[in-house]
Amino acid sequence: MDVGTRVFRQGVIRRFREWLPPIPEGAVTTIGEGDTPLIEAPALSERIGARLFLKFEGMNPTASFKDRGMTVAMSRAVAAGSRFAVCASTGNTAASAAAYAARAGIRCFVVVPAGKIALGKAVQVLAHGAEIVQIEGNFDAALRISQEIANDREDVTLVNSVNPDRIEGQKTGAFEVCEVLGAPPDAMALPVGNAGNITSYWKGFSEWREAGYTDTAPRMLGFQAEGASPLVAGHDFESPETVASAIRIGAPASREGALAAARESGGAIESVTDDEILAAQELLAREEGLFCEPASAAGLAGLLKLVGEGRGPGGTVVSVLTGHGLKDPDVILSRVELPEPVGATFEAVAGRMERRGP
Ligand SMILES: *Cc1c(COP(=O)(O)O)cnc(C)c1O
Repeated sequence: MDVGTRVFRQGVIRRFREWLPPIPEGAVTTIGEGDTPLIEAPALSERIGARLFLKFEGMNPTASFKDRGMTVAMSRAVAAGSRFAVCASTGNTAASAAAYAARAGIRCFVVVPAGKIALGKAVQVLAHGAEIVQIEGNFDAALRISQEIANDREDVTLVNSVNPDRIEGQKTGAFEVCEVLGAPPDAMALPVGNAGNITSYWKGFSEWREAGYTDTAPRMLGFQAEGASPLVAGHDFESPETVASAIRIGAPASREGALAAARESGGAIESVTDDEILAAQELLAREEGLFCEPASAAGLAGLLKLVGEGRGPGGTVVSVLTGHGLKDPDVILSRVELPEPVGATFEAVAGRMERRGP
């Protein structure tokens, strides 16, 4: 290999340009998203009776998969001459929009449900200098208002996943999975909130197949949190509730895309409880060394549930860990306490080790 010719993490637009809507080179707004690791999970593979890989999207620049779609949406906003980006968010869309808007030199407004956004995500928005507007309402109200603002003004681009550019960018996750495994997996397991991501992955796998790289496509297994499971219940949730704030959504914008993905792939959309989500988050952290936020563990929680009911998918399975665990420190701190300090002596510290055991 020639030194200096290998380009690492050049961003999903330059890497997958022919699969994406047209973007002039001068408008490309990237901070090195994509190319996230696909990590084999031996301990969890044993638990689910399949060969499990984890697509760790927490390794993106703002630590969630949202960056894949945001680079495309923000680049296209730049190309269109927009001056403002606006979005509704449970947190990660806001963090990503704030970063990419900063990079693009566009002003960014994020509309979030008051008091419902995880600490790490709020900190990111503030750090990047975006305007955060908290409303006394849920995500669904925030999205409606953001759409109204974008409709009202020519120079505003809505960067939620109802913007098709977001879906286009996010489908690159599917391409990377196919490239790394050499073929599509037998099943994909991922969390479902507003349902943009499952829609995107299915679009990516479908296009990969249409391009003739493969004859197969994975079964798409989407999991909602029980307290926010409109696609399972068949009706919207007025007050969605779950510890997994990234999927606390009662009226998914990409509902049709998610249902089509499940139907066309022979998959399913099911629900998992908050306890199952938190148990899966802990297993990922303690058995595989991967710390993801609660929503991201819904895919594994779902796989464990299916296996427990004798319905495990088997074969090769990829679960998307959609966001980093550092996004939501409170979820851990509310369950595991930082121990009291001890004296600065060998005995005191060694004594602590004895008590903990191996
Ligand atoms: C946005 C998000 C989800 C949900 O994705 P949808 O496209 O809304 O279904 C899941 N996990 C994390 C970490 C997210 O940021």
